[in-house]
Amino acid sequence: MAGRSKTYEAALARLNAYIKQEKLRVSMVRKAILEKVCLFKQPFTAEQLIEACADEFISDATIYNALNLFVAAQILQAVKRQRGRTAVEYELTFGSHSKIQIVCLECGRVTNVREKVLEEQIKEYKYYNFTPYRISMTLYGVCKHCRKPKREQ
Ligand SMILES: [Zn+2]
Repeated sequence: MAGRSKTYEAALARLNAYIKQEKLRVSMVRKAILEKVCLFKQPFTAEQLIEACADEFISDATIYNALNLFVAAQILQAVKRQRGRTAVEYELTFGSHSKIQIVCLECGRVTNVREKVLEEQIKEYKYYNFTPYRISMTLYGVCKHCRKPKREQ
C-alpha cells in the first residue's frame, strides 16, 4: 500500500476506539475499506466507494455496512445532496484542515476551497466545554458556468 495518510491514521484510531467501545469484531476488510475512504478528496457516494473497492473482492453489502459503521463512529457524515436526483454523499468528519464547500444552486456543482483567514478567526472563539477541531461550511450560490447569460435561441 502507498504511504498511509495522516487522515487514515486518525480515522483508524477513531474506528478502533469505537470498535472497542461497542465490543465489535476487528475486521481487516473494514480497514481496507477505510483506507479507500480516506483516498477521496471530495464527498463520495456509496457507488463510488464500491467502484474504488472493485479490486478488493468486497461485497456491496459489506461496503454498505462499513459505511454505516463509519457514520456511527463519526468518521464519516452522510450528506443529502441534490444533483439532478437526490443522492447521499459521504465525507470525512475531520481531516488535515478545514474547508468551505461551495455549492452551485443551478447545476449542483460542489467545490471545496480552503478559507484560512476565516478558519483562524473562528478557531479564536472560545466555546464553553468544547474544543473545535475543524470547521465545515457550505456556501450556496451560482457558479461561473451558470452565471453566464443564457443566449437567446
Ligand atoms: Zn452551476
